[in-house]
Amino acid sequence: MVQVIEWVNPGEDEIIWRYPNEVIKWGAQLIVHEYEVAVFMRDGKIYDVLGPGRHTLTTQNLPLLYRLVGGSNSPFKATVIFVSMKQFQGRYGGETQTRELAPVKYYGVYWFKVADPVLFITEVVGGQSLYDTADVTKFIRAYFNEGMMKHLSAYSIVDLFQNLDMVSTQVKVKLMEDFRRLGLELVDVKIEGVNTTDEWRQRLFWIMQTGNAQYVMQMDTAKQVAAELGKSEGAAIGTGMVVMPQLLQQPAQPAQPAQPYAGGGVPPAGYQQPAQPGAPAQPAGRQEICPYCGKQIPPGARFCPYCGHQIHRCPNGHIVPEGAKFCPVCGVKIE
Ligand SMILES: [Zn+2]
Ligand SMILES: [Zn+2]
Repeated sequence: MVQVIEWVNPGEDEIIWRYPNEVIKWGAQLIVHEYEVAVFMRDGKIYDVLGPGRHTLTTQNLPLLYRLVGGSNSPFKATVIFVSMKQFQGRYGGETQTRELAPVKYYGVYWFKVADPVLFITEVVGGQSLYDTADVTKFIRAYFNEGMMKHLSAYSIVDLFQNLDMVSTQVKVKLMEDFRRLGLELVDVKIEGVNTTDEWRQRLFWIMQTGNAQYVMQMDTAKQVAAELGKSEGAAIGTGMVVMPQLLQQPAQPAQPAQPYAGGGVPPAGYQQPAQPGAPAQPAGRQEICPYCGKQIPPGARFCPYCGHQIHRCPNGHIVPEGAKFCPVCGVKIE
């Protein structure tokens, strides 16, 4: 009976499969499906690699192994590992610390595939002695996560929450380089969410409001910052002038240019300027940022449409942190 070496019905998430029989006969049929590669190993070393097709194993297509096992036609020992070249999806999630040691949780999805099966087998499969899919998958996930933790920890909490798009792009490039070293191609990475503790969210709020990270970080707690900025109504504004230059320099709302009456002549009595389609109800020019996720929200929103957080406001409509006694912008007392 002819020996048939084939990866039958690979599972959707299976990256590698090892042919269980390590004794190979010359003349055996090797079936390599599309998007697969068969790698012949012995003692942790890679000898021959065969791509998709139906191969009869001969001294011709396994020249390196043949040289090793000698001229005899008797069966020889080798490990056959099939590698899937398809694209895989992995989920990740973990915890790390920012540059200022703020605890951060993150999660998302990534897509990858084997780009260089020889390098992949050398570095991951043989190098780590992982010969089944579950172990390889676990290794890749851990490797990805480790890289994510390391690269994210180089950023400040403000960057993470306010410039997540920029951070994602830069981290992606670094992770892609990491993956390339393992013979893998990291096709894409999506950071779906980042989060931190309530205490750090408040601190982040004050950093964003005052534009002064150092000042906020000098205080032990975010509550202390709030108290410091809101000692009294007058003090709130007085302190604000020192620590909130950004807020005081907010540009005035641009005046809407008067629209000429389209009909010519004097507009009839009761004529009203037609509302511009899609124009916001609130005057333009005022941009509001959600203090929890950093995304731009519609002016006056009570809840962030992106993260769902409730947006707390002072009587004058300024965004204030949860539990604030005074508004950091106008100093008004919050009931
Ligand atoms: Zn939000
Ligand atoms: Zn206010």
